[in-house]
Amino acid sequence: MKIKFKKLLCYSIIACSTLICFSNFSICQANTYDIITESAELKKNQNYIENIGYRLLNANRIDRRVNFVFSNKNIINATSNSINREITFYKGIANILKTEDEVAGVLAHEISHAMDSYNYNMISYLFTSLIAPRKYEYRADVRAVDYMVKAGYDPLGMIVALNRVLNENRIWTILCTHPRGSLRLMHIYEYIYNKYPYFLVHSPYKNNPVYQNFLLTSVKQRRKLQKKIMEKNEALKDEANKETL
Ligand SMILES: [Zn+2]
Repeated sequence: MKIKFKKLLCYSIIACSTLICFSNFSICQANTYDIITESAELKKNQNYIENIGYRLLNANRIDRRVNFVFSNKNIINATSNSINREITFYKGIANILKTEDEVAGVLAHEISHAMDSYNYNMISYLFTSLIAPRKYEYRADVRAVDYMVKAGYDPLGMIVALNRVLNENRIWTILCTHPRGSLRLMHIYEYIYNKYPYFLVHSPYKNNPVYQNFLLTSVKQRRKLQKKIMEKNEALKDEANKETL
């Protein structure tokens, strides 16, 4: 009886060990597969943002070094480090943006920040960006439009990208470092209206629902803009008439 019990115990241990071993094997296999897939995807994403980033830098003849890093963190943002001039593009924002123009818009904005960090010494840049951070944001947005156009991208892609990712915080105070989403979008639109009106007429983004949503939510501001431009044109006409009299 004792021997039979020992045998049974032995068989049970072998059976349990085999089961554990196979379970571990299958878990290990899944992990290895996940790691390989994840690293292959990371490599693909890294190449994708590098191609767009370097295209922007080269087309604009930017002779300052900037690095691009794709991060697998699920953060809806992209950042530009003003100390090491490294631009990080997060998976969270990559999952939201749909076209190369949109990604180029976000990268061009971050490149513009990196250029500001080159144009001023570190102390004055950090100090001014703390005192008047919104000024840098507006400037980075319009400079990004120039970078995009020069590199052959459609600047309306930037409006679409920012309309997707910027929120419209109702608790917006003087302490906010970034201007409210709608203000930034309108500022970019005004810049395109004045400098690159071709895109407002011919861009394929005219049929994009996210761009159409921007047009819908900015009706009042766009009317004000048109009025402002008409008044400016009238004033210029008056000036010209006075000169010819
Ligand atoms: Zn910014």
